[in-house]
Amino acid sequence: METISADDLRTDAMPTEVDRLAGELGRSDLQMRARLIRADILLQAGETAESGRLAQQVNAWATEHADARLLAGSHHLLAVFFHQVGDMADALAHADQCVTNSGADMPARVRARHLSMLAISLHGNGSPDEARQRFREALDVATAAGELKLSLQVLNNMAYTEYQAGNATDASALIPEMRAFETRYGVPLRPHYLDTIARIEMMHGRYAEAEATLRPVVNGSTEHLPTKGNPLAECLLTVAEAQRLSGDVDRAQQTLDRAVAVCDEYGLMSSRARVREQQAQLYAATGRYREAYEEYRRFHTEIEALQAAQREARARALQAVFETEEARRASERFRELAQRDALTGLYNRRFVDERLAVLLDGAAASRAPLSAALVDLDHFKRINDTLSHATGDVVLQQVAALLAAAVGGAEVAARLGGEEFLLILPDTDADEAVRRCERLRQAIHAHPWQPVTGEIPVSASIGVTTVVDGRSTPSALLAQADRNLYAAKRAGRNRVVADPA
Ligand code: GH3
Ligand code: MG
Ligand code: MG
Repeated sequence: METISADDLRTDAMPTEVDRLAGELGRSDLQMRARLIRADILLQAGETAESGRLAQQVNAWATEHADARLLAGSHHLLAVFFHQVGDMADALAHADQCVTNSGADMPARVRARHLSMLAISLHGNGSPDEARQRFREALDVATAAGELKLSLQVLNNMAYTEYQAGNATDASALIPEMRAFETRYGVPLRPHYLDTIARIEMMHGRYAEAEATLRPVVNGSTEHLPTKGNPLAECLLTVAEAQRLSGDVDRAQQTLDRAVAVCDEYGLMSSRARVREQQAQLYAATGRYREAYEEYRRFHTEIEALQAAQREARARALQAVFETEEARRASERFRELAQRDALTGLYNRRFVDERLAVLLDGAAASRAPLSAALVDLDHFKRINDTLSHATGDVVLQQVAALLAAAVGGAEVAARLGGEEFLLILPDTDADEAVRRCERLRQAIHAHPWQPVTGEIPVSASIGVTTVVDGRSTPSALLAQADRNLYAAKRAGRNRVVADPA
């Protein structure tokens, strides 16, 4: 499914089934790939909200698993999504992330789509020069890979973008390039592309040429037979405008009548409203101002209603995406909170129970040493009793900060409970562990406690133990550290005791 384009899949039945099967197999990677394809199809089908929601899910998964391909794909769809809901800044941010994650190992077709979307977003954010550069890159990638249909699509995007920006010269310079695909490679220009060309020709007042450009579409030449629905209605609108502007009001009227019929047949509300706008202009061109006014009012009412519905749909779509994003953040935060001690922010006992087993396994596998140190404050009860429980809390927080500062990388600083802490030091042998603990003990002792506890000193006793080949269990390791801690207390506190030689 990834090797064919979303237009060729038509419905999302197949990726939905793959999503389900992959779920049964517990293959979340395949599930996400299927979901991304589904999101793409839904986007083409105009189901913006659901597409955005899926793209967001895939993006969250890809971020967590650092999966570049899925990151690129989901950022691309999110860029299209935000572009569709009119949020150009977010569209650009996602398009940028997409291209950053879209390496040279991507299929050319995909890479060209990504670059093209970045160009469109750059243009939407008022950077026409950067946009042109990215369009050219997209075009080069597609053409070099022989993806001619895609090249043409990129060219059309370029031309339409220039047209929208009112750059008549830049826009018309692209027409021969587009035409060349037809003459040189025999790739027919779709109605949609011919409409772009006709609109550019009209920018230069070349109305007869514009009409001629669209003639194969509106007359239904073999190549464009059967052009129906929206593309036909749009082309008829362009032709009617060209005919009116060239002064041929009768033919313009006939074309508009045809456009009305097509709009009614296919239920094209937005095109129907724009036919009214053209009709109003045509009335005005023939001096029928009263009718022009009435028709224009109808156009205005209809377009307002459509825009209101569109705004509502966009708001719903955004809501769907943000709810997914919020749910993801909330669950991440929850997971994070569940591992942390509320008072000090250090890891808690629950985290240690899981993590210590994993680190011991790792040490066993790599035959690396691992040390663990139990840190217990000396005469802590005295601080609580003499000063206050609140003061005791502040001491615990400041000691926690010293512990946190003493570890890095895969090392863990945790609060096991009360005034008892644990350091886990993977890849640290006994000598190194003793040195580290001694430094920590001194840091606690030398900390400026005066503002917190006045004359009462704060110190800690530390029991440290080391396994050389990971051959131990979490409980055996902690029991040995506890025996060493007890020895430190008995020997007078404020000291480090390691395993007996
Ligand atoms: P030792 O040197 O033998 O370890 O003496 P100690 O007083 O530190 O040991 P003990 O275990 O008797 O006392 C620990 C005290 O820690 C008892 C309890 O009131 C206090 N404590 C436990 N949790 C907290 C807490 O979250 N905040 C505060 N302020 N005190 C706590
Ligand atoms: Mg204590
Ligand atoms: Mg204690």
